[in-house]
Amino acid sequence: MAQSPAIDSRHHNRIAALHSEISSWRRDLHAHPEIGFTEFRTSAIVAEKLHAFGVDEVITGMATTGVVGIIHGQRPGPTIGLRADMDALPMQEHNDLPYRSTTDGVMHACGHDGHTAMLLGTAQLLAETRDFNGSVAVIFQPAEEGGGGARVMVDEGLFDQVDCQSVWGLHNWPELPLGTFCSLAGPVMAGIDYFDITIRGQGTHAGMPHDGIDTVLAAAHLVTAIQSVPGRNISPHDTATIGVSMFKGSDAYVVMPDETVIGGSVRYFDAAVREQAEARIRSLANGIAQGFGAEAVIDYRKNYPPAINPAAEADVAAEIAGGIVGGEHVIREHQPCMAGEDFAFMLNARPGNYIWMGSASDEHVSGKLHYPDYNFNDAAIVYGVGYWLALVDRELSGG
Ligand SMILES: [Zn+2]
Ligand SMILES: [Zn+2]
Repeated sequence: MAQSPAIDSRHHNRIAALHSEISSWRRDLHAHPEIGFTEFRTSAIVAEKLHAFGVDEVITGMATTGVVGIIHGQRPGPTIGLRADMDALPMQEHNDLPYRSTTDGVMHACGHDGHTAMLLGTAQLLAETRDFNGSVAVIFQPAEEGGGGARVMVDEGLFDQVDCQSVWGLHNWPELPLGTFCSLAGPVMAGIDYFDITIRGQGTHAGMPHDGIDTVLAAAHLVTAIQSVPGRNISPHDTATIGVSMFKGSDAYVVMPDETVIGGSVRYFDAAVREQAEARIRSLANGIAQGFGAEAVIDYRKNYPPAINPAAEADVAAEIAGGIVGGEHVIREHQPCMAGEDFAFMLNARPGNYIWMGSASDEHVSGKLHYPDYNFNDAAIVYGVGYWLALVDRELSGG
């Protein structure tokens, strides 16, 4: 059973009054999920609501579907950025909900519907009072799930147009109970690279293997050998997860293919580990292919950097969270997550923090992130909006 949140009394009643509306926005977004860079409906709703709230500036079309709203406070001061992600995942929902996905094969299974709705509610409440110095930029980004929408927004000049002195992210975390936060200093989400390796040989009849060069067999050896990289090359004191998740050879039982393609990911926290992993994978691919008389064509792509929270902002975030749930419910020591998070691109551009908000409760049946039975817990809305408002109080206070 979750603690009651100790939201500042100035905010608590206002959040409570808006809760059912925020929840209804969330459920509408859940019913209409859109994958990365195609969040056109979501983005239009976000922009329309920001205008309706009287937000001073609304920038649209950044990174295709990204939206930034800027809310000026009553007094001059710096600008801070609060970020939500809007995209859904290409997977089939298994929930039987009145607001289940209406789009086959697309689902909000990471709670970005909740993140978007909570930041919209925050924008409405901030625009009503404007009781802060400076400005708040509410940043709604596309394509967090692999597309790197945050990178595109930064590349398109997000922080040139909106000069945020700091930027803050929040993710619901169903592995932790509602009424907790986890604010880690240092690594919090892994860096991720992708690789595709094509083994080129000589196709042949499956009954006459001696007439060809077997690319499936070479690729199978490579899959096995790649596991020696985290096992034998990377220091046991460092972290790396390397996995081959794709394997494509022939389409027929009786045809040995000209080429076989494998693909996978490298996950890490330390840049030196990444360099070592890439070098070893290249060396193994070339060496094994050559040993079989084949050739390897390697496409190794650096994707998301690791999300590393600076210590000072992690302390600030923990203090704010502690004001809501009590310091004893703020986790400061936890294993980082080996999933990626493109908020890392924003953290590389500006100081800030990425915090996990506990969202599991007995009253809410929810699967894990990216599971077909996942559903954002609307009871977390008060914690999320409460956190954002308290963060603005703290960072842009009149003091
Ligand atoms: Zn996700
Ligand atoms: Zn997510």
